[in-house]
Amino acid sequence: MDINHTKIATADMESLHRIFTVAEAPDSTLGKIEKDISENLAGFLNEHIVAREIPLSEIERDFNHAHLPEEPTFVSEHTKFLLDKLVAHSVHTAAPSFIGHMTSALPYFMLPLSKIMIALNQNLVKIETSKAFTPLERQVIGMMHHLVYAESDAFYQDFMHSESDSLGAFCSGGTVANISALWVARNNELKASGDFKGVNNSGLYRGLKHYGYDGLAILVSTRGHYSLAKAADILGLGRDDVVAVPVDGEHKVLVDEMKLKANQLKQQNIKVMAIVGVAGTTETGNVDPLNDLADLAAELDCHFHVDAAWGGATLFSEKHKSLLKGIERADSVTIDAHKQMYVPMGAGLVLFKSPRLASEIEHHAEYVLRKGSKDLGSHTLEGSRPGMAMLVYSALNVLGRKGYELLIDRSIEQAAYFANLIQNNADFELVSQPELCILTYRFVPKQIKQLLKQATPKQALLINEHLDDLTQFIQKSQREAGKSFVSRTRINCARYDNQVITVFRVVLANPLTTQQILQEMLEEQVCLANKSQIALPELIRILES
Ligand SMILES: *Cc1c(COP(=O)(O)O)cnc(C)c1O
Repeated sequence: MDINHTKIATADMESLHRIFTVAEAPDSTLGKIEKDISENLAGFLNEHIVAREIPLSEIERDFNHAHLPEEPTFVSEHTKFLLDKLVAHSVHTAAPSFIGHMTSALPYFMLPLSKIMIALNQNLVKIETSKAFTPLERQVIGMMHHLVYAESDAFYQDFMHSESDSLGAFCSGGTVANISALWVARNNELKASGDFKGVNNSGLYRGLKHYGYDGLAILVSTRGHYSLAKAADILGLGRDDVVAVPVDGEHKVLVDEMKLKANQLKQQNIKVMAIVGVAGTTETGNVDPLNDLADLAAELDCHFHVDAAWGGATLFSEKHKSLLKGIERADSVTIDAHKQMYVPMGAGLVLFKSPRLASEIEHHAEYVLRKGSKDLGSHTLEGSRPGMAMLVYSALNVLGRKGYELLIDRSIEQAAYFANLIQNNADFELVSQPELCILTYRFVPKQIKQLLKQATPKQALLINEHLDDLTQFIQKSQREAGKSFVSRTRINCARYDNQVITVFRVVLANPLTTQQILQEMLEEQVCLANKSQIALPELIRILES
């Protein structure tokens, strides 16, 4: 056994002291891993993530004890268990052939830097546990605010470190960022007036009564992220109060339809508290017409939020940033640093155009967040929070805007290349053309394509149902084989009368994904399709007879 027993935790105080003071020996299991990871991150992952074909039920057997471990374990022995049972069966999100989700590879420097962050264990909720980190976080928020809104230097000098203002908030991700933005929108909609003390103090029921509304609503396209429904739920609205507006053939919201819905709601005495534009839809990567939405928000006199969790980083690119034109008119913007900014998970941001906007969610307490303090916790939904801003700050410095620009431009080019590859292959169908670096497609053998062209709507329905099964089969088999990965989703497709079909979804964010990998992706999918039991030849026979 290569287990080093020198640094142990047995249940006595002396040993416990040691685990707070002494490091693992360099030749212990953990010591060696630390060295491996910092010297060759990709190599470490490739070497240790090995058993990708193991079914989930088998893994569950390794994690099936509800009893707490009574006795301590040697660190290295425990590490060995983690390597064998956890790391080995993990998902290789950094693999260049893992192109199905928004989670991808990290630059190597994130690992040693995150060690510094964890070593310091700063709590960003208050200055008393995060001196230096609080000003740093405020600066990062200022930089991201500048990326979106490009206000004057004087503006940032005035507001970046101001205790009574907020240019935004760091949080764990896009979900909390969206919740925070809509929280601000709700509280501004139903703010204190006359003898009403505001929705934050008196609740939604009294707020609606005071303002004479029968309800509040949020409008977003059918492609809106499900976190908006969660936000509505916890803000005292219902999930049904997030009203889904249809999209055009390019998955962009139909602004006229949104206006129509808003008018219908008005007739029911329901106030639209916010409209949401998506900049980079999760499923297809499309951007809503943000300028038109800004106009509509002005007309409706409501909050305008842009969910740019995925697409916000496009602003780093001189070439492509115009896709997001109008984002600078949003009252609030969500951007996830743990997506296209290549920061480890747990880093999201919400930005507020007006430094005063967040005053309606301001919260003070006696022992922390005292009035007049610069504690970030007075404007955040979350309480205790890690110093993730440091990693965003580091990425911004190490890569620079130009570095991000190269990454973003490359991802978009790569998606265009893959779309082209799919379109030029007779046995595939490109379902959504990529605007950013997300696209959807499916396997449709050429005879079936021919049939689909001539099919009656009823026949098309039947064919598409079979194709759905086939797409699902290929996607699952590919995932289980573990060599490569695309995700799958179901979207309504303008080409087929808005029928909902199952498609492969690809996110091309890993800079190490090559064109050859993309070619092989299609080849593998053809092979898997040929193994399928889904009887396409039979289907063809039925339809032709
Ligand atoms: C990813 C994403 C979210 C949710 O972000 P999390 O970080 O997963 O909480 C919200 N909206 C959009 C458009 C996204 O892409």
